[in-house]
Amino acid sequence: MLVNMNQVLVPARQQGIAIAAFNIYNLETAEAVYRAAVDLNSPVIFAFGEQYIKVANIKIIATIVQEFAGRTGLPMVLHLDHCKSIDVIYKAVQAGFTSVMFDGSKLSFADNLAQTKDVVKFAHSVGVTVEAELGSVPFDHKQSEIPEEYLTKVDEAVRFVSETKVDALAIAVGTAHGEYKGRPKIFHDRIEEIAAKVSIPLVLHGGSGVPDEDIQKAMRQGVSKINVNTQISSVAVKKLKALCAKEKPGHLSDLMHEAEEAMVEEVKLFIKLFRNDAGA
Ligand SMILES: [Zn+2]
Repeated sequence: MLVNMNQVLVPARQQGIAIAAFNIYNLETAEAVYRAAVDLNSPVIFAFGEQYIKVANIKIIATIVQEFAGRTGLPMVLHLDHCKSIDVIYKAVQAGFTSVMFDGSKLSFADNLAQTKDVVKFAHSVGVTVEAELGSVPFDHKQSEIPEEYLTKVDEAVRFVSETKVDALAIAVGTAHGEYKGRPKIFHDRIEEIAAKVSIPLVLHGGSGVPDEDIQKAMRQGVSKINVNTQISSVAVKKLKALCAKEKPGHLSDLMHEAEEAMVEEVKLFIKLFRNDAGA
């Protein structure tokens, strides 16, 4: 069942757990996320990044996810990830996305606030939830420790959330996109300070490779959505590489299916970790 983000994130924040958002960009990734969520009887967020428009048609992706979500009573969200273009946000909503992320993190605070406010006004008028980002979760990072100036400022977060009426806020607290060079330093004090003053669900981007204990602590502190992308791609690529190294790799349909099987298992590990399953 397709729902918006509030229907899964608000209860998650109350329970001190997080809902996983996985990037999807083709049938295999979408099917892997769907199968893992159904196997574990868990809500899930399908995230399609604006960056993947070059490899996949947004309407076709929406149709695939709608088809999967319609096959179960489990709450599932079709979310547009990291979108800088208002035009693409309109297109996504038209295609049936139930949630969008407007990424104004590279804008000045004032511009990010003003544009996010406009996006929220439009999205809420059609029942679509909005995530925004404050501070900057870096994409190209060289060290395991993110410099202080990238982190989300507490007073700005309070003002931003109250003025924009955004539904979820991605915060920069030490995580980064892509692979980490070492153990990332997560600024738990900052999460704690923001969560004490901002009651909406907080979002952690760059969930691949963050140590389990940091994830668990962040969830207790108020992080209720965690984005995972890199690690799901990595297991599929690793699987394909191993299969292609064989003398007779076989038919493409079988290779893609094997890659999907590997992704299902990896997706399950994250879902279990984020809902605090014993032994995850
Ligand atoms: Zn992100």
